[in-house]
Amino acid sequence: MEHKFPDIPFGANPTDHFFRAEYKNGRWKDPRITPFQSLILSPLALCFHYGQTVFEGLKAYKRPDGTISIFRLRHHQQRMNRSLERMAMPLVPEEIFIRGVQDLVKREQNRIPDNPEGALYLRPVVIATEPRIGVKISDEYLFYIVAMPMGRYYAKNLKVKVETEFSRAAEGGTGAAKCGGNYGGAFFPTRRANEEGFDQVLWTDAQDHLYIEESGTMNVMFAINGVLITPPSSGTILDGVTRNTLITLAGDLKIPLEERRISYRELEQAFRDRKTIEAFGVGTAAVVSPIESIHIEGTTYKTDVSEKAIQFRLKRELYAIRSGEKQDVYGWNDIISIPSYT
Ligand SMILES: *Cc1c(COP(=O)(O)O)cnc(C)c1O
Repeated sequence: MEHKFPDIPFGANPTDHFFRAEYKNGRWKDPRITPFQSLILSPLALCFHYGQTVFEGLKAYKRPDGTISIFRLRHHQQRMNRSLERMAMPLVPEEIFIRGVQDLVKREQNRIPDNPEGALYLRPVVIATEPRIGVKISDEYLFYIVAMPMGRYYAKNLKVKVETEFSRAAEGGTGAAKCGGNYGGAFFPTRRANEEGFDQVLWTDAQDHLYIEESGTMNVMFAINGVLITPPSSGTILDGVTRNTLITLAGDLKIPLEERRISYRELEQAFRDRKTIEAFGVGTAAVVSPIESIHIEGTTYKTDVSEKAIQFRLKRELYAIRSGEKQDVYGWNDIISIPSYT
């Protein structure tokens, strides 16, 4: 793939255009694509003070037949509105979100990598912009979408630690919303885990610090002796699109699956009983991130990350549907046809 800025790593390499629309006087107006540029915001803008910020993350792919697929576009649109509702922010109308993503992808189609592992990453964001200090719900907002190419994404095997001191989210809080504060609050415990030699923490429930919730920006799945187990979606876990996709595919592949709470004590016991255990993070970025070891209260346990692991079967199945190799019976691909002469 051609990189316009070859030495700028992913995340700092936006395409030349972005999409934006403003909310004022009770309505969204002026949706448009413009050259990528810095934003001008008042230092008083409410997003800086009280945290009304929400985002999404989704991807567009170039398929072998030359079409472009935006994967689960409507699902991401609906989830952003659920996050906005929780943050008392105005919903973005379906047509503005969908058209915005589609138009930006069309405009930047030449920046979508050709290899099946690459993608154009899309980051829709809504922020409170009303220039006024005072703890209140903003009356003005900005919705924008930036795009950036991602090359081949090698999901490295993760070493994780079960976190039993800090919490990411509590019942009744904002854990299920993709809002900025959830991540800012997670940095300190995550840095501490990094200093101890772990890549990520596995969050546990805020009440008993016993039940596994999720990890970083990924939901988590386990397979114990061939049975997939994933914590149920709840008010404290982000309702991941990838999680939902893989649960559906597990059903198609007749892989037994339990959506239920799983405590780290149960995991510990399963390791001691020498059961075959897989653990993996699931999310839009890497689809599947194998977890090679889990640290539980002073002991590190190794998991199964061999070729034959269930997680790789699930990943291959998802790739086959995304690329068009297998029939998309659920309508997950939002296809944009590009005339071949462009
Ligand atoms: C985005 C995110 C996920 C994964 O969601 P996907 O829709 O699969 O990308 C999981 N957990 C958290 C905290 C997230 O922010």
